[in-house]
Amino acid sequence: MPDVLVAGGGPTGLLAAFELERAGLDVLVLERDVRPTTQSKALALQPRSIEVLQDRGLLAAVEPHIEARLPAGHFSGIPIDYADLPTRFPYQLGVEQAHVAAAIEARLRTPVLRGAAVTAVKQDGEGVTVTAGGRDHRAGWLVAADGGHSTIRKLLGAAFPGTPTRISLVVADVTLARKPAGLADGWQLPAGTSGFLLPLSGGRYRAIVGGEEQQRLARDAPVTAGELQRALTDAHGPGIEVGEVLWASRFGDAARQLERYRHGRVVFAGDAAHIHLPVGGQGLNLGLQDSVNLGWKLAAQVRGHAPDGLLDSYHDERHPVAARALLSTRAQGGLGMPDPYAAAAREVVAGLLAVPEARRSIAWELSGIGITYPGILGRATDVPVAPDGRAVLVGASPPAGWADRVETRDGAEPQLVRPDGYVVWAGGPGLDAELRRWFGPPRKTADRRRAQKLPFADQPPSTG
Ligand SMILES: Cc1cc2nc3c(=O)[nH]c(=O)nc-3n(C[C@H](O)[C@H](O)[C@H](O)COP(=O)(O)OP(=O)(O)OC[C@H]3O[C@@H](n4cnc5c(N)ncnc54)[C@H](O)[C@@H]3O)c2cc1C
Repeated sequence: MPDVLVAGGGPTGLLAAFELERAGLDVLVLERDVRPTTQSKALALQPRSIEVLQDRGLLAAVEPHIEARLPAGHFSGIPIDYADLPTRFPYQLGVEQAHVAAAIEARLRTPVLRGAAVTAVKQDGEGVTVTAGGRDHRAGWLVAADGGHSTIRKLLGAAFPGTPTRISLVVADVTLARKPAGLADGWQLPAGTSGFLLPLSGGRYRAIVGGEEQQRLARDAPVTAGELQRALTDAHGPGIEVGEVLWASRFGDAARQLERYRHGRVVFAGDAAHIHLPVGGQGLNLGLQDSVNLGWKLAAQVRGHAPDGLLDSYHDERHPVAARALLSTRAQGGLGMPDPYAAAAREVVAGLLAVPEARRSIAWELSGIGITYPGILGRATDVPVAPDGRAVLVGASPPAGWADRVETRDGAEPQLVRPDGYVVWAGGPGLDAELRRWFGPPRKTADRRRAQKLPFADQPPSTG
């Protein structure tokens, strides 16, 4: 029996599984789709997510698929320069989400169980029973990462309040039989709500359209080449001719968030916990950060050494971050509406974002570099995570009794770094209190089980 079941083999579920396995747990990912998807909704990785992937040795496998390095993010299409962000990666990476997911999946110890759509969930005092692909699976805990239409959210009747869709859009990957010279020759930031076009490898183009026709059509209406042709002609003139539609999907600007991320032994992450307009490249990045925040806390809970409230601190820390993303994307969606009031507001905001302090504040937020939690001193910029999911103590004497949870390293600047890369102590008094606060009381004997399972101990982080 695995320690934890993960429902959903998207980037969030896969990284949650990776983090849990890294900490030595047995994990089974249950994925509805029979094959890994080649359809990538997200195309952008923010700096904090790049740091997280690099730190875990996952970036090298993504690198061959990088299509662009964008020196800026954007707020509703208003460029937000990343040049002075305090990170090794002051840019967004243009890379298809499917390659990020594949890079993580390739490093899982237990293969993803495919064709396993979750249809029922029951929990009791000891664990969770999940019916998936017609079979029952049992584990102590379930991570629900089954995406924006989460079945598990519905099965549990979890409240998902927010705002409904006001504007409907289509995302599609297409080939173009003809296009005006100079259009979509390179990656650029989106401008306006319709007619966004971006070149992808293999002669494909990513199109996003959201004109009048998209507002009239039903959410489940098939996307046709004719519909895309009309929308792209409206945006770019008659010199464009759509060839093949490789895949397409409708999406909207509904913004909703779970009131509680934890429901007993079921913990939600990624789009299953929060949805919003995918403007500014936030959703995938939020999901990845959810997983690294949750992984070590749930592992400690399973092992039985989690201090009181540690697992619930996942909700306390991550709920406000996604709530802020919902606020930001609602604002960006509002600024992008095709009406003169939105255009006026947009001009005012663009002026304000020319002020360095304002621009910097949005850059820190969009890039994930500014993510912080109560009681955290900052993110560790030069302390690689421990391969086995332990915390890292730099430049201080090894404390007795925490060796199974804390790796000690030499260094001039004392720091205690949580397994998700956030600094909770930086010298002076209080080390003992912080160790107890995050990692529980000291132990007399090492946790044997952990020592037996160090799946990635021989794989140092990539220098990618
Ligand atoms: C047009 C568009 C562009 C976007 N661009 C960006 C961007 O540039 N940057 C960014 O950060 N974000 C972007 N996003 C958002 C991003 O794609 C999502 O936030 C991201 O996919 C969330 O990952 P996830 O793993 O939580 O969910 P998903 O990727 O939806 O994965 C959920 C997985 O669960 C599986 N599943 C579903 N139901 C079940 C079930 N019952 N049982 C088992 N498995 C199930 C699904 O098959 C899927 O594999 C964009 C979104 C859209 C629509």
